[in-house]
Amino acid sequence: MKIKAGLGYDIHRLEEGRKLFLGGVEIDFPKGLKGHSDGDCLIHALIDALLGAAGEKDIGQIFPDTDPRYNDIQSTALLKKVVGMINEKDMEILSIDSIIIAEKPKLAPYIHQMKEVLCPILGVGRDDLGIKAKTNEGLGEIGQGLAIASWAQVLVKKK
Ligand code: MG
Repeated sequence: MKIKAGLGYDIHRLEEGRKLFLGGVEIDFPKGLKGHSDGDCLIHALIDALLGAAGEKDIGQIFPDTDPRYNDIQSTALLKKVVGMINEKDMEILSIDSIIIAEKPKLAPYIHQMKEVLCPILGVGRDDLGIKAKTNEGLGEIGQGLAIASWAQVLVKKK
């Protein structure tokens, strides 16, 4: 048995006229994340962390934005595909920790719901998925409310 770690990061710009999705949950906010998919930067960071632990290429190479199949796709569907790839390689997710960095809105009320969506897809218990939300203390583009970013770290076990 081998334990492998993976790290993922993502950032998307906020823009008017789009729905905001984070962790597979629709968040009540007047702006959404710009992207080829639904722009869910938490799920994209999770995907890159999983792909990294599996020694695979990154999310942009696996799901290229030039491919119309991924136009406006829900990121939960991409995550399901990646978990399938991991499982096919005889890998099992042990533990995940993640951070969402957003000046607004307050995300704490949505974290339980994000876990309800993500834990069944990832095949982990509620205690094995950490999701933390924090602001950027008003600093930089994230602090000005122009973008939302996420970090994710995973540990997987290869049988
Ligand atoms: Mg992304």
